Amino acid sequence: MSSSSTVFVATNDLSGFTRGRAAPGNAAEGVLRRGVGWVPADLAVTAFGKIAPNPFGSTGDLKLLPAESTGVDIPTRGDVPGVRLYLADQVLPDGTPWDNCPRTFARRALDDLRRATGLEVVATFEHEFMLPGLDSSAPFSFERFRSVEPFGSELVALLARMGLEPETWLPEFGADQFEITLRPTDGLTAADRAVILREVVRDLASRHGHRATFAPLLHPDGSGNGVHVHLSLRDAQTGRPVLHDEQRPGELSELGGRFSAGILRHARALLSFTAGSPSSYLRLAPRRWSSAGVFLAERNREALLRICPTSSLGGGVTADQFNLEYRAADATSNPWLVLGVLVRAGLHGIEENYAQPKVWPEETGESELAEVPSLPHSLDEALLELDKDDVVSGWFSDELLETHRSVKRAELAEVSGLDDRAVCKRVADVY
Ligand code: GLU
Ligand code: MG
Repeated sequence: MSSSSTVFVATNDLSGFTRGRAAPGNAAEGVLRRGVGWVPADLAVTAFGKIAPNPFGSTGDLKLLPAESTGVDIPTRGDVPGVRLYLADQVLPDGTPWDNCPRTFARRALDDLRRATGLEVVATFEHEFMLPGLDSSAPFSFERFRSVEPFGSELVALLARMGLEPETWLPEFGADQFEITLRPTDGLTAADRAVILREVVRDLASRHGHRATFAPLLHPDGSGNGVHVHLSLRDAQTGRPVLHDEQRPGELSELGGRFSAGILRHARALLSFTAGSPSSYLRLAPRRWSSAGVFLAERNREALLRICPTSSLGGGVTADQFNLEYRAADATSNPWLVLGVLVRAGLHGIEENYAQPKVWPEETGESELAEVPSLPHSLDEALLELDKDDVVSGWFSDELLETHRSVKRAELAEVSGLDDRAVCKRVADVY
């Protein structure tokens, strides 16, 4: 239990914003049992702070019911008080799960996977972000790494104290760009950690006089900020990893092939959930090492699904490390929905026995990849793809789907008529 003077109970919405309500720290016990109030139409708030047309209107009430295991303490710093942050499920006032809650969507997808296959997901979300306005420094350089001290060291220490298991913290390629990775964990915890990580980075950066941004692109010619989602599957009973089979193409098991095929087949309809903003699609282009097409490849950083490298150094075991990396996500999306749609798509591929997809070998050249299907080129196109895919639409309650479409349409309207440069800026101003 917290000694903080305040608890903040939060959800994460359709545009990846963490929103919620605070209560006094001495009321924390009651808040954990009974939640705090919330409003259905809050789900329709856009990234730009307006309410999109929605099926909920001005009536209805919900509770944000904290998941106790998600609680983290953001400590006092100078004259800024600490706060205990909890992530919550959205439930009806009698405690029934709300069908439109993104965290519930993720949990149900994971439960269905386990029920149908006996498998569970191990995942981690890798985040890139920028601290604009630093003195210029070379990509990946020690100089850049040191230029943001003590922020970097404090961030890593804080994440470790919170139990988020930071793995690496690095100066990235782009101007003012950094990356942080966390150790893999169970699927729901991985998505929870992604929500918390973004807030902790933003909060600590602001204490150090920086504004952190996770926007997909700050400028059309600049480097992108991706969120790469690493996924593997293991037997829920024995913990045995099931994606690796050294006899098969890319060493991806037959089951892993079907799981991947589900994601690839439905990818174009998934994109509005994983790349949620108008500028997201400017990032998803060749030679950006983001994702440049719908394909599965060995260790290619432009694949939609990358079969990641493994290493035998220090006694490393291949099957334990073997994982797939979904590269077409960014932090304008809700981590629970990202995880949920990837799991649902993979599960569909397993259940429907989708054929093994082609694994493009590592040495494949750019010209050979010209034949792979493209990703949607815009958020508008991604929404049209969603309309066309009954499998993907079928995973959502009518209200959640309608609100997602409406929020994304409203966000598109907000940037209509702007050139690419202005679109990047408009999005970066709020992320
Ligand atoms: N910045 C790239 C992206 O937008 C990723 C670079 C990398 O491979 O880490 O996804
Ligand atoms: Mg990176």
